[in-house]
Amino acid sequence: MTFRATVLTLYPEMFPGPLGVSLSGKALEAGTWALDVHNIRDHGSGAHRAVDDTPAGGGPGMVLKADVLAAAVDAALPPGDRRPRLLMSPRGRPLTQAAVRDLAGGDGALIVCGRFEGVDERVIEARGLEEVSIGDYVLSGGELAAMVLLDACVRLLPGVMGHAQSGAEESFEGGLLEYPHYTRPQIFEDRSIPDVLMSGHHGRIAQWRRDQAETLTRERRPDLIDKADKTVMKERKD
Ligand code: SAM
Repeated sequence: MTFRATVLTLYPEMFPGPLGVSLSGKALEAGTWALDVHNIRDHGSGAHRAVDDTPAGGGPGMVLKADVLAAAVDAALPPGDRRPRLLMSPRGRPLTQAAVRDLAGGDGALIVCGRFEGVDERVIEARGLEEVSIGDYVLSGGELAAMVLLDACVRLLPGVMGHAQSGAEESFEGGLLEYPHYTRPQIFEDRSIPDVLMSGHHGRIAQWRRDQAETLTRERRPDLIDKADKTVMKERKD
């Protein structure tokens, strides 16, 4: 089944945006994945199609209304649709490569792009929206976050990446960051490509890459090493 992304946004003109070029754009054109974009404002109320209102209890900003978003979700989902329903949100579960891989292995997702101060909590509960964050910072809307999530998923779909290996060896796939890359010329501003990479010895090259990946991860992301260690320890216990 084709991976289908159904995006709910107040700014449909932002899509496909960067998803319409390069790998994801070619895959979209080829029908490897499909993108439906729905304007939440089509379900707004009154002559001005209002989608937001002031926060109950006071405070700054506006809140995306529950009834409006619920109507938009219901209209966008075909009966019996079982795809995950995601709400891009800085409060959400952090997006990881493992979660991306899971999602890319399914039929796609409904993705709600928030705006304003956020979304009425009741529609999150009532429509079973799962909050997903792309990082510990605040964007002005969920559209760029949805694009990040979709780009990460689409490149993993079968046939999208040229070389089957390029997915498997990347950062995070083995719990580590990726090793350094080099290409011609052999000498650039007095810096040479490491000899081992020119040796043609596949075993030594693989070992060097593993060592580099581990050193780099220890230096830059010790939290990943901790997680990898715990997984290995748990696997040993089991
Ligand atoms: N008041 C909210 C808070 O403090 O959590 C931030 C709202 S933000 C200005 C508006 C919308 O941008 C959010 O509803 C969400 O859809 C999106 N957004 C912002 N940062 C995000 C992030 N790190 N990951 C995913 N979505 C994000």
